Amino acid sequence: MSGRLSDKVALITGAASGIGLETARRFAQEGATVILADRNAAGLTAALSELQASGDRHLAMAFDVTGESEWVAAIEQVRSRYGRLDILVNNAGFGRFRSIAETTLDEWRATLAVNLDSVFLGTKHALPLLAESGRGAIVNMSSMRGMVAGPTSGAYTAAKAGVRYFTKVTALECAAARNGVRANSVHPGHVETPLTAAAYAKPEVAKEFLSHTPLARFGQPREIADVVLFLASDEASYMTGSEVVVDGGVTAQ
Ligand code: NAD
Repeated sequence: MSGRLSDKVALITGAASGIGLETARRFAQEGATVILADRNAAGLTAALSELQASGDRHLAMAFDVTGESEWVAAIEQVRSRYGRLDILVNNAGFGRFRSIAETTLDEWRATLAVNLDSVFLGTKHALPLLAESGRGAIVNMSSMRGMVAGPTSGAYTAAKAGVRYFTKVTALECAAARNGVRANSVHPGHVETPLTAAAYAKPEVAKEFLSHTPLARFGQPREIADVVLFLASDEASYMTGSEVVVDGGVTAQ
């Protein structure tokens, strides 16, 4: 442990799996107290027991990030248990490949709720505690689909593009308020996680995705988590409103 986040309290959503879980591991290794949030209670229990092996300061909170009352209760719990919050990582998300014709209104709304409403709600309700920190940081998980469009992911693309610009508004409002909170977005490309495993296991899908990825391989959760760690740390103290692409070169073309 090199202590890049020592004395910081961090809440990470979607922390039971994939990029969120790897981010929780990296944060804990760097000395943070980690609050793991996810709606997958079983996954959270496993993640918490893994983190607790190196200290019992961490906490797991099972809740649905699309619900406002859930966020209010979660932040109240953080305040009463730790009295502070320094980092919020809005990472929970989900997407399906569907053409516009195939997308139902319910699917559209559910996709925007998980990927975008959650970021608004987390930001709104965590900001007062983050501002008290004096050096708060928000890292929002967007996607390369928030930078460039592709077919068959209209709801997801709209949501992730929304995250990109909502992050900038957050950064500007916090800067104007002089509350010390920075906000940045991360834009992964094709990363191997439980979310993508089934699709990438199909040889034709893997071939197609890797054919437009200059580094010619899928990204690993650790390669995204390390970028989140940097943005959340004081090393990124002059970065706010930025968008960091981690996509093996896809959007460079
Ligand atoms: P994942 O499925 O492995 O993990 C996502 C986690 O979010 C799960 O544990 C899930 O239970 C949780 N979650 C989903 N909806 C929730 C809700 N309503 N309330 C609480 N928790 C909820 O996925 P991942 O690949 O690690 O993705 C993490 C983030 O990265 C997502 O925002 C995703 O859109 C983004 N992303 C992933 C990729 C990729 O290739 N894997 C690429 C670009 C962006």
